[in-house]
Amino acid sequence: MDQPRFVISATEAQLLAQSSGLPSVNEVLPTLVPTAQSLARPPISKFPVAAVGVGKSGRIFIGVNLEFPGLPFHHTIHAEQFLVANLLLNSEPSLVSFAVSAAPCGHCRQFLQELPNATDLKIVITNQRNPNFSPLSQFLNHRFGPRDLLPDSVPLLLEPHNHGLSLPNKFNSNDFDLKLVFAALEAANASHAPYSASPSGAAVMDCEGKVYRGSYIESAAYNPSLGPLQAAIVAYVAGGGGDYERIVAAVLVEKDGAVVKQEHTARLLLRAISPKCDFKALICSPKNED
Ligand SMILES: [Zn+2]
Repeated sequence: MDQPRFVISATEAQLLAQSSGLPSVNEVLPTLVPTAQSLARPPISKFPVAAVGVGKSGRIFIGVNLEFPGLPFHHTIHAEQFLVANLLLNSEPSLVSFAVSAAPCGHCRQFLQELPNATDLKIVITNQRNPNFSPLSQFLNHRFGPRDLLPDSVPLLLEPHNHGLSLPNKFNSNDFDLKLVFAALEAANASHAPYSASPSGAAVMDCEGKVYRGSYIESAAYNPSLGPLQAAIVAYVAGGGGDYERIVAAVLVEKDGAVVKQEHTARLLLRAISPKCDFKALICSPKNED
């Protein structure tokens, strides 16, 4: 690889294993961690973290930590959260294993519980002596997860979601950039919000007109949830976006009557990273309800 990228195709992943003389893509993951760390943006801690995982499709996904000066710590995006948002963005059905440069924090161990087959997910920490893959269940005993709150019929994270939100009848297309609106609406409909029933999605546009979308991801433990704008910023970074000031417009889509609201937090985050960005929020309802 010349430039580190955030998604590597299954074919290329296999070739990487073969050319390195490694038995499988699993063994390739730790070798990609040091380069991936160079993609992190941790201006506060100066502690770059990378999580490099392989999905069920055989594709490799990269996640890195993002920190935002001027904002409370809870806006921080951890490498494992970035990795999971990257999987969702690319419609990957499940995460099989990942290598990470430092031990996952408790927040991330909990966040990873949202994944299908979470207990079987294999993790290797590359900065340890004799690193070995161990299941997530070993990292988190006495787990609290989605099935403690949700019936079996409710889809887990990365499983197909569609909240059926549509644009309001009184929507005035002159007030919005439609490319942004439809990206944010699509992201909201794909979001994972089973605990609050408050789906949301965001889309941001850079100064060249390229659009990046992100879906809200809830955690059974609430606090480790990843906001929709944070997920869109993950897409922006993963899509090769440069400085955040290049983000010139953003749209947030939320559900009418939602108990969890994202607008104020999203506005705060955007104001800190790209003060001139035009931000609009749009309240939508499931079809035939507005
Ligand atoms: Zn973490």
